[in-house]
Formats: sequence, structure tokens, C-alpha cells
Amino acid sequence: MRIMVIGGGGREHAIVWSLNKSDKVSKIFCAPGNAGIAELAECVPIPVNRFSDLIQFAIDNEVDLVVVGPDDPLAEGIVDAFEAHNIPVYGPRKNAAEIEGSKIFMKNLLKKYEIPTAKYETFTDYESALAYLRQQELPIVVKADGLAAGKGVTVAATMEEAEEALHGMMVGKVFGESGGRVVIEEFLAGQEMSILAFVDGETVRAMVPAQDHKPVFDNDKGPNTGGMGTYSPLPHIDPAIVEDAIENIIKPTARAMVSEGRPFRGVLFAGLMITKDGPKTIEFNARMGDPETQVVLPRLKTDLLDIILASMNGRLGQLDIEWSDEAAVCVIAASEGYPASYPKGRVITGLEAAKAQGALVFHAGTALADGGEIVTNGGRVLGIVGRGSDIAEARAKAYEAVSAIHFDGMHCRTDIAAKALK
Ligand code: AMP
Repeated sequence: MRIMVIGGGGREHAIVWSLNKSDKVSKIFCAPGNAGIAELAECVPIPVNRFSDLIQFAIDNEVDLVVVGPDDPLAEGIVDAFEAHNIPVYGPRKNAAEIEGSKIFMKNLLKKYEIPTAKYETFTDYESALAYLRQQELPIVVKADGLAAGKGVTVAATMEEAEEALHGMMVGKVFGESGGRVVIEEFLAGQEMSILAFVDGETVRAMVPAQDHKPVFDNDKGPNTGGMGTYSPLPHIDPAIVEDAIENIIKPTARAMVSEGRPFRGVLFAGLMITKDGPKTIEFNARMGDPETQVVLPRLKTDLLDIILASMNGRLGQLDIEWSDEAAVCVIAASEGYPASYPKGRVITGLEAAKAQGALVFHAGTALADGGEIVTNGGRVLGIVGRGSDIAEARAKAYEAVSAIHFDGMHCRTDIAAKALK
């Protein structure tokens, strides 16, 4: 089969790497891809939001299946666009992707179907939002309704901080129209956990769970990022809690989407908080997580293409999906200054040495320079994955590979997966 993957980050590199292992795959295109993906796929310089160009490319190059990575094109209806041309495409349609594209839609859905989540109110008017906010206890969480590249959420410890965030979203429009509507919600204390699931309508096949590290610095200090590192499995979390989340959050949500006439097909990602009252939903994403994918797919033993095809043919429920017991730890190497502004074009060295040690090096923001060097081209640059029989071994291998890699200003957290060892 000839496959086209849409996207160009670490998640897409992991998807391409996984699909490339399938003996049914003869050719992979990736739009736009990056310097790492280029080693496995033919990168096509078409931006992810140029649907008509992507469709034309797929037609001209006899693509048999399109796999969509990122949230933005899903929210804009890329799946509907390919379907309108009868091109097989894996991912949720626009009306199902709204579970990520609108936090208000998601929160109202969970409330209607009594699925555990933080208590909340939604607002479209700044004055009423401010009046409500001032009556709440601290800490309090303020969220922009729409997509904001993972930055639309403020967990405020002081009222001043909460008011500033609200003002920025609703009056200052720092996230554009995404902040015209807001959710103000109860702060949930606990540990976070991510569960990704292959979903086809009411059929849910959960993947192995993972944990992300959002803040940029060690000990969860500093501003939130798209994610600084992940690991899987979660040896310190009771499997009954994972089961609880699958049975009482993910499956009911898939059923709710069917009842609403928006059946979800693709990867549904639940961001959960394990509270003292059990797991509660923080967010849903309509695609694979980044960098969760980088530790989950290396543990997948079943052919990813078989899972996608089964899901597209209504056979997902019958497929035997196998996972390895091996542990995986991903450490993100980020550019100096990230998540604020950062330089690009810095030469990366040591990639081959890291791979020779057995690490997987997934590229996120990289590019090939004219001189043939691989250079930085984004905030998150690489996801360096170590694997081993347990978290301690996988973590040691990941950090050993990290120390082989260099670019000026490279920043990594040093405590990824440390929680699992305590
Ligand atoms: P989201 O984009 O909704 O996943 O939020 C980003 C991050 O903000 C999450 O990964 C959590 O760390 C934090 N967060 C969001 N909502 C809450 C909440 N209700 N209570 C505590 N932390 C939250």
C-alpha cells in the first residue's frame, strides 16, 4: 500500500516509523515531514492546511490511505475533504474532532452523559466571566475554548493571575477567536495520566497508558509546553485505575459521540487526572498525543496498519492487539528559550551515535540545511527514546543517548520518569 502521513513532528515520525515496519507498506509519503522522517518516507513540501493540494497529490501519486497526525487539520475537516474525493483516510471527521476543537462542546458532552470531569462554567461575555471568577476558590483553571497549540490553559494560584489570563483571552485576544469563549473550571489535584485509544464508533481499544511532563523545567517548574517527555508503562499506578478510566470515561464518551450523531473514528486521547475520587477527564484530543506516541508505538507489537485497516472496515473489535512488556522513556530536547521564542538553524550532532546505542531518535522540529547538516527548526527538536526491561533501564538508556546529542542551547528536563521510580 502507498500511504501518506499528514504532519511533520515527533508524533508523525513515530507513526511513519511504525507503519514502515509493516510488510504491507510499499511507499510512505509525508507532508510536510522533517529531516528524520525523510530517512523513511518521501517528504512532500505541502502544508497540512492546504487540503486541495494534499488531495491532488494523493490522486496523482495513487495514495491508498491517508493518516492524519495533527489536531488543526482535523478540526478544519481534512477527513471530510479526503472522503469527498473517495480517498481512504484515517482520523475523525470534523464533527467528531470537535471534541478537541471546542472545550465547551467537550465539557457539555461530558456533563450531559454524566462522565467524570471537573466542575465548570462557560462564558462568552467578559464581565460575567470576571464576576464568576472572583467568587471561586483558588487554585482555579481558565481555558480558552478553541485550539491554542497547548497554551490556552492557565492553572492560576492567585486571583491576579487568573484575572490576567481571562483578560488576555477575552479582551486582549492573545489566542485570537479561540479565546472569545472560555471555560472556568475547578482545579483537580492528583497525578496526570494519558490514555490513547483506537476508536471506531462504540468500539474502543485502549493503548498502554503513558505519562507526560508539561512544564518546561525539572520538578514541574516554569510555563507549560507541548510536553517535555513521556514514559510507559506506569508501574506506580494501579491497573484498576486505568481500567476505571477506560470503562467509565473513554467507552461512555465513544458511546456519547455515537448518540450525538458524531461517531468517532481514529485515535481518541483522554488526558486524565487521578483524583482521590477516581480518574476525571481534563481533556480529550482527537488524535495521537505528542510526545505520548513516541513511547506508546514502540511498545505496539501488532502491525499498526492492520489496526487502522480493521478500524476502517468495522473489524476493530475482533482484532487481537498485542503490546510488549518493555518500558519506553522519551526525553524531549528543546531549543533555547522554548516555549517562548527560540532560534532556528543550529547544527545538531551525535544523532548517529545515539541511534548506535539503540535509542530511537524521533525528530520533531528539524530540517536539512543546504550543506547537508541536520539543523534545529522548532521549539521541540527531538524525542530521544530509550527502551529496556523496566523504567529504570529505559530511562538510563534515554539519558545516555541524550548525552551523545548536541546543539547550541539544547535543553532537556533531567527528571523524566523519575516519579515512576520513587
Ligand atoms: P489541557 O490543555 O486542557 O490538557 O490542559 C493543559 C494542562 O493544564 C493539563 O495537562 C493539566 O496539567 C493542567 N490542567 C488543565 N485542567 C486542569 C484542572 N481542572 N485541574 C488541574 N490541572 C489542570
